[in-house]
Order: sequence, then C-alpha cells, then structure tokens
Amino acid sequence: MAKITFNNKDSVFFTALKSDVDQYFKANNLKKTGNWNLYIKTLVLIPLAITLYLYLLFGNGPAVISLFACAILGFTFASIGFNVMHDACHGSFSSKKWVNEVMSLTLNALGGNAFIWKFKHNIIHHTYTNVDGIDDDIAKSPLMRQCASQPWVPAHRYQHIYVVLIYAISSFAWVFLMDFNKYLNKRVYKTAMTRITPMDHFVFWLSKALYVVFYVVIPIQLLGASNWAIGFTVMHITMGLTLALVFQLAHVVEGASFEFAGGTDRCIENEWAIHQIKTTADFSAKNKLVSWLVGGLNFQIEHHLFPRISHVHYPAISELVKKNCEKFNLEYNYFPTVSSAIASHFRMMKELGQNPVVAGA
Ligand SMILES: [Zn+2]
Repeated sequence: MAKITFNNKDSVFFTALKSDVDQYFKANNLKKTGNWNLYIKTLVLIPLAITLYLYLLFGNGPAVISLFACAILGFTFASIGFNVMHDACHGSFSSKKWVNEVMSLTLNALGGNAFIWKFKHNIIHHTYTNVDGIDDDIAKSPLMRQCASQPWVPAHRYQHIYVVLIYAISSFAWVFLMDFNKYLNKRVYKTAMTRITPMDHFVFWLSKALYVVFYVVIPIQLLGASNWAIGFTVMHITMGLTLALVFQLAHVVEGASFEFAGGTDRCIENEWAIHQIKTTADFSAKNKLVSWLVGGLNFQIEHHLFPRISHVHYPAISELVKKNCEKFNLEYNYFPTVSSAIASHFRMMKELGQNPVVAGA
C-alpha cells in the first residue's frame, strides 16, 4: 500500500499551540486526564443503562413505555461510547493505565471490540483523517460517496435520502458484521492490523458470546422472540443513528477537506496538525447539554489535535486552538448548532451524489 506522510519538518503551528496548551495545564495545576466531571458522567450513564436493561427484562410495563425505554437505552449506549469508551480507548479517561483498560471494555459491553477500535480509530482514523483510501471512517459502503475522489454510481443521486437507513443499521452491522470482517481478515480497510495476541482473540470471542447471551438469549427467554425483536431493533436504530450522525458531523461536512491516497507514496503538504484542522469541524460548542451528552465529539478539532487529553478539558483548550488558528491564518470549521451541522452534512452528501461528470461539464 502507498505510504502517506505529512510535512512535519518544521511544525510551527503545533509547536506554538502545544506550548499554549501545556502552559494552560501547568498554570491551572490540572491533569490532562479525566476529572470528577467525567467520573460523575460515568456514574450516571452506566447505572442508567443497567437500570433500563433490567426494567426492560423485568419491568413488565406498557408497550409504549418499553419502546421508549429501548430508544433511551440505545441513546445511553451511544453516550457511553462518546464519553466513557472513547476517552478510555485513547488512554485519557484516567492517569491509571488499568482504569483505561477496564473502561475501554465498555465498548465490548456495547457489542463492539476495544482492540479493533483502538487500531481502527486511534491509529488509522486519527493519523490519516479523511485520507480516502486509508481512513476506514469514510469507507463505510460503496453506496456512500463521502468525498470527490470516490467513484460515483447512479444510486448516489439518492444517497442523501438512503444514508439515513444505512446510519440506522450501522451499530447492528458494526456488532454482527464489520467487527467480524476486520477480525477474520486481520485488516482495517486496507491496513493490516498489528499482532493480535491470544488474549485479544479470547476477549473478542468471549465478549461477542456474552453479547448474544445478554442481548439476545436472555431477553428472548424472558420476553418472547417477537417482543425482543421489536425492542432490539428500536434500541439499535437509535444507537446507530446517534453514533453515525455524531461521527459524520466531525469530518463529512462542508468546509472539511479530503486527501486521496493513490497508488504511489506521497507527502501531504501540511504538517499533521494543520491537516487535522482542515479535515475536522466542531459543532454546538456552547450548548452544555450537547457537550455533556456527546463528550468530546462536538469538540473534534481539539480532540484530533490532543487525543490523549480528556474531553472534559476541550472547552478551555478550544479558545487556545482558535487563537492559534487566527495567528496562523487557518480556517476553524465550526457549526453553531447540531441542526446546522446536520443540515451541512446532508447538503454535502446531496452534492457528492450528483453525477460529477455532468455537474462539472
Ligand atoms: Zn478519537
């Protein structure tokens, strides 16, 4: 596979920004990992998910309440992913390595796999953000054309409509299809995975088996197959839509740029940190509820620049990033609300769905 590098020879932007950020932590005597804001969030979200799960199994409530509980459970799972799992997998949840390792396993409890995620997300996505041909996040399906270098097919004309369906089934596909595909092929899109230890194999199979026991076998035993099927579908649709939309708003919106990894080695003209600024967007930073629920994912610029700093520090750091972007004349991609970011994503998908030959003629 062609090798992609960045022009990091004199990374003046990142050197200046990092010095400001380090100074902020030093001056305020803060650790870069999570704090009580994050631990309280964890102590709300995980017990909430367990309570909803137990209610659905034993609550015997009216159907409409149960369906609502399934949707809230799906949303809570996504929120655990954004806040707890994401920080833990980056090693920023706690300064203690074992705490991060344990909290990473929340992903396995949601049906995914922390080992595969760390390779796919921490290494591939965070290094080669929006690099078509390497970044697995923009290679979800040939039915989705997410940047101009991807081949166009007539079905893409309607992609801004049918992607909603793809997003809705995305977490189901993640648990039962995509993880197995990566695990069995030992690669994430086009990149071979690093050595998988016997422990990784064991945890993979054990957690997938436990997922089936807790989310399929036990609910079917207690509630019956049809009730389970409806509830499980509602839970996954809510979780899939939430996860997919929030992740898409960071990189597949107007203003975010893309690179193409062709067949030959190439060096991207910018330093890595500038590449992150150009390919990433923030949204709804001032909304405290959105920031609480989606964790660092509405501060993706800060997250991509400092993935090993917990998301609880991003609101403060964002001021330093903005200041340095201004100083170095870099555009800071920002959408003030969730709806403006969603609208931009769908406008972009519609635009990319037009026949590029005709559109460019
Ligand atoms: Zn990340």
